[in-house]
Amino acid sequence: MTTVAVPAPAADARPHAPRPTPLPLACRLCGAPHAPGPIATCEECLGPLEPVYDPGRRLPDAETIAAREHSLWRYREWLPFEGAPALSLDSGFTPLLDAPALARRLGVARVWVKNDAVSHPSLSFKDRVVASALNAALGLGLDTVGCASTGNLANAVAAQAARAGLPAWIFIPHDLELAKVVGTAVYQPHLVRVRGNYDDVNRLCSQVADRYGWGLVNINLRAYYGEGSKTMAFEIAEQLGWRLPTAVVAPMAGGSLLTKLEKGFREFAEAGLVADAAPRLYGAQAAGCAPIVNLVEQGGEHIAPVVPRTIARSLAIGNPADGRVAAAAISASGGSAAAVSETALVDGIRLLAETTGVFTETAGGVTVAAALALAERGTLRPDDELVLCITGNGLKTVEALQGALPDVPTIAPRIRELEALYGRDL
Ligand SMILES: *Cc1c(COP(=O)(O)O)cnc(C)c1O
Ligand SMILES: [Zn+2]
Repeated sequence: MTTVAVPAPAADARPHAPRPTPLPLACRLCGAPHAPGPIATCEECLGPLEPVYDPGRRLPDAETIAAREHSLWRYREWLPFEGAPALSLDSGFTPLLDAPALARRLGVARVWVKNDAVSHPSLSFKDRVVASALNAALGLGLDTVGCASTGNLANAVAAQAARAGLPAWIFIPHDLELAKVVGTAVYQPHLVRVRGNYDDVNRLCSQVADRYGWGLVNINLRAYYGEGSKTMAFEIAEQLGWRLPTAVVAPMAGGSLLTKLEKGFREFAEAGLVADAAPRLYGAQAAGCAPIVNLVEQGGEHIAPVVPRTIARSLAIGNPADGRVAAAAISASGGSAAAVSETALVDGIRLLAETTGVFTETAGGVTVAAALALAERGTLRPDDELVLCITGNGLKTVEALQGALPDVPTIAPRIRELEALYGRDL
């Protein structure tokens, strides 16, 4: 018997492993059907494409779901595939924490923190969307993946592609936080820093996807990518005991997460898994990059792009792809939006840490600060049951806290020095 070493992509390394079949797509605006494929916009009208689910498919009941694996695939009937997923099987099902001290501070009945700061494997909610997109890439036979990223998506694609054995091309703005660069580079993808902001990176990637036929998760696989975000809504409903909160605050970059939360809550209501009214949705952005908040507050038909200027780099998208849909979802839900200052977002990081033990990145600081701003405006109600979507980990953006925390003293290992610092009555 002879053995020949043939380098093969992971997809072919397990030729007999079943592959999920991605669902066909349809245009959200004109309804035109499209075959499953790496295509995100309608060939007729350039509207966004979405997967088409068979309305007659068999759906599981709460008991069946509850007995399944602790991952986002426990909701697989609402994810855009036929057949079993083959990659990234253990992302999702992050904790939902009760936060009574925050509830008192916000003047509402209950607050829970949906803690994607501890998402597996890359410590942000982007693990959800990448798990969905990589299975789409596998099912479509694409053997190279990638993304345009503000940081967390780069981490998630690099980590999950490394594990799948898929080559990855990852494009980021040149000046991202150190931990987000290192937390991508460690997996050895093809990592490229682009001189410019995220919107420049995104434009380059649209050309790259067409030219080389790669599966860029948030560009030509966007229809499959976005559906992964719904699982955050599903988990919130299940972890609350199959009911819905009355209000949800979520950070917005491209606006996808917010729109998919709405879709997720709606789908669980339609399936009869929850009986409550849909929650009011509140979108959070940094004032230095708030195009979606602006649209919600000023009305109008279109996003007015901005040039981002904020330390909340993970939310720094000046021309958000789903901004219009996110603004519409917020308004239709009876919610609103808030933009917060740089100091408010740093204070938000600290408040969350001090009251819940969760250390979040800048995006989470924006979310907490937005909740405080909404409470101050009188937008939240005393009987509200509120969920804060905390989407990323604070260890990735430690720069944000520079100078914000008290100095840490250093002493010799002697009791006398300790007492000199703090007095005798410690
Ligand atoms: C990407 C990201 C978001 C928002 O993503 P959308 O583009 O609006 O779906 C929120 N928080 C963090 C930490 C992110 O990385
Ligand atoms: Zn169309």
